[in-house]
Amino acid sequence: MKKGKLVIYTGCSGVGKGTIMKELLKNDESIKLSVSCTTRVPRPGEIDGVHYYFVSKDKFNKIIEEDGFLEYATFCDNMYGTPEKAVDELLEKGYNVFLEIEVQGGMQVMKKRPDCVSIFITPPSVEELERRLRGRGTEDEETIKKRMYRALEELTYEKYYKYSVLNDEVDRATQEIIGILKKESE
Ligand code: 5GP
Repeated sequence: MKKGKLVIYTGCSGVGKGTIMKELLKNDESIKLSVSCTTRVPRPGEIDGVHYYFVSKDKFNKIIEEDGFLEYATFCDNMYGTPEKAVDELLEKGYNVFLEIEVQGGMQVMKKRPDCVSIFITPPSVEELERRLRGRGTEDEETIKKRMYRALEELTYEKYYKYSVLNDEVDRATQEIIGILKKESE
């Protein structure tokens, strides 16, 4: 069986990458989303083992010591990491595995797995980004400010990614990504 593609899928907070991801999973059975570990507390509705594995800092550090992460990074005071074994098992089964990760992790994976595909989701404008981030209503003002600052910083990494996809419209952006995947799998 042909091995699947490893896809780095990055977009700053509020860009709408989660919404596009849901559409991708609905529309393309070849796609699987890797479940990360994080030390962040769950948001309302988030389920352990589905959205993330919510772990303590000690547990996270233990996985680092055991070399269990393909990549990991600190983002706005919390740690996030991709469990390597689970990703490789899915790739072996022929799935295209998406890593929804921030830029530091993205850079690590590009180095470690040069055959990966990298996709950067961009917002229509900075104003729209802030509006979406506030509209989510799940974060306090300080967190929103931190995430907004970080978002502007992250946008400077777009140039390191092979593909940029503008999230002007969810369906259009979803189809563009499916097209990229098809092209890369040929
Ligand atoms: P959130 O707290 O909003 O779920 O995620 C914050 C940021 O961390 C997002 O940009 C998200 O893509 C990123 N992220 C989620 N999981 C991982 C991971 O395993 N590794 C890295 N490097 N970033 C991650």
